[in-house]
Amino acid sequence: MSLSDLKQRILDEIPLTDVVSGYVHVSRKGTASVALCPFHGDKTPSMHVNNDKKIFKCFACGEGGNAIDFVMKYKKIEFVEALKEIANHHGLNFEDYIERKQKSPKLVMAEKVLQKSSELYKRLARTNKFPMYMEFIKKRGLSTEVADTYSLGYAPKHNALIEYLSSIPKEDDRKFALEIAEEIGLIKRDLNNNESYYDTFRDRITFPIWDQFGTVIGYTSRAVYDYQKAKYMNSKESFVFNKRNILYGLHLAKQSIREKDFVLLVEGNMDQIAMFNKGLKNTVAIQGVALGDYSLKVLQALTKNFILALDSDTAGFNASKRVNEQCLKVGIIPKYLNFEPHKDPDDYLTNEGIVAMQKLIDESRPFIDTLADQVIPKVIPNLIDRQFAILDECFHIVAPLGNSLQATERLAVWAKRIGLQSDSAQIIKRYEDFLSNDNSQKFRAPEPPSEELMHEVEMMEEDFESQFTNSLEHFEQVTEVKISAIEEKLLQELVQHPECVTRQKALELLDFVGTNEVKSYILRLREIIYEIDENEYVSILHSLLKKEHYSNSLVSVIEGALSRYRKIPINDVTADKILLDLEHRLKINQLNQKRQIILERKDLCQTNEEMNALMLEVIEVDKELLKLKSHKPKLKV
Ligand SMILES: [Zn+2]
Repeated sequence: MSLSDLKQRILDEIPLTDVVSGYVHVSRKGTASVALCPFHGDKTPSMHVNNDKKIFKCFACGEGGNAIDFVMKYKKIEFVEALKEIANHHGLNFEDYIERKQKSPKLVMAEKVLQKSSELYKRLARTNKFPMYMEFIKKRGLSTEVADTYSLGYAPKHNALIEYLSSIPKEDDRKFALEIAEEIGLIKRDLNNNESYYDTFRDRITFPIWDQFGTVIGYTSRAVYDYQKAKYMNSKESFVFNKRNILYGLHLAKQSIREKDFVLLVEGNMDQIAMFNKGLKNTVAIQGVALGDYSLKVLQALTKNFILALDSDTAGFNASKRVNEQCLKVGIIPKYLNFEPHKDPDDYLTNEGIVAMQKLIDESRPFIDTLADQVIPKVIPNLIDRQFAILDECFHIVAPLGNSLQATERLAVWAKRIGLQSDSAQIIKRYEDFLSNDNSQKFRAPEPPSEELMHEVEMMEEDFESQFTNSLEHFEQVTEVKISAIEEKLLQELVQHPECVTRQKALELLDFVGTNEVKSYILRLREIIYEIDENEYVSILHSLLKKEHYSNSLVSVIEGALSRYRKIPINDVTADKILLDLEHRLKINQLNQKRQIILERKDLCQTNEEMNALMLEVIEVDKELLKLKSHKPKLKV
């Protein structure tokens, strides 16, 4: 028997009025059962409870659903918790319905090793033997309580974890534990002596990373000395750790996100910790510059209201753009916080305090309005052609929303601001034409998942591993993509020169990359380069191509580049030079594409005016092209 059997029994066998009357008083009114609606300030019983149709419906506020929905909404709990509560109240044994599928021995061991290692690091940190840990805690103003909530720890220079694992008495267990610890990247094999290992995390503050149910699945760690090469180092990808699907702090924030009905997205784990401890408990960190598709689905199940609170620098703004676009594609319009002149939420809280932060949140506006501010000039031109040109720019901003009411309503507001007198039907028509010509929207994200599917996501607790893979397969269907020649060149250069990948410039250049898969592969590359040793580089990139879902075209480009890979170290100046050159060529390519798209509209022109307007657009593009071509990048040294 499974949870879906339990769900069916509850809906089929328990009268809805029995369930509802466990929480609110239900009375008869003629042939109907009614109750004071608990979801709005109800004065007269507006909520109808219908046993035959098995639904409740409030005729005042519109709230409605089945028995399980009622309990979820009333108690603000998750699907599985609601099933459990109803079962307990109505004499069904919840335990009978949980399929306890056997976890694989590998997974059991990995979870054990991770749990034990986090306890070990935590214990070591509290021995007062490591001044660098104490200094970090003090400098960051973290209380003991906070350090405990987040299980902050310290991995010392000597091989503490290996010592610990080597002390496991039974030989079989010991060998297995070491093997798994190596596979999930907590320890590494000594290249000179195959029999011996060393700890991956040495002289580092350790932050365990949990899944949404609070199981430790990996680490992020921070260097304590200046000479340490990587400031942040994460667990490597493994069967327990999929970095793209991590939302740091989610297991702590989940309840609050549901209750407050919005989520704050920050970049780093220190931001999450700072926000959470100032009472903004509905905060999660995306741990980088992109939000995994799966993470987005998980958050969507909790709330539809997102606030972007990423860093205030260029990288943070570009990351906001990317997350914004992901959200728009599923019909969510995120709001945006700007922390300038401070660099991130942690910094802002330290300098301005929680009251100012709360004000910032209360007054936050949709991110698309910020983007529109950049496009709509302060002084509006008089020429109607120029006004339409501005409106066309605005089309790009809402395009990920598709031809929805949300998009057209926004456009109507902006059109007024621009001074366009045209009626909204005309603007919508123009927008529709734009959409049918806009190539960047051809690969639309899949439709948002149904409620049922989201329930499944929440049920992952029961059978984490298999559900996890199933849902991933469900969400990530690989379509064949066309990678342009310049994008191919970009991938080849980045694979050949990993030094380029970690440069800030590499992120900025993504804005000129049209193919989403190329973008996400580069972001992925950026993540893992921090996590791996040089000598593992080629083999890890190979295995990544096998393990993760990429199109055949991308796989063949990367395989080709790897087969030609020679380790030739380059310095930062050379790396930036390569990137600037690539950016230049990407820009030219993008403009050429734009030109092509404009020209394709030629046949649609019916009047001379339309034809002239179109040619003007082409001339504008040509001007930009000319400007670009005559300004080859030179690097300021
Ligand atoms: Zn109501």
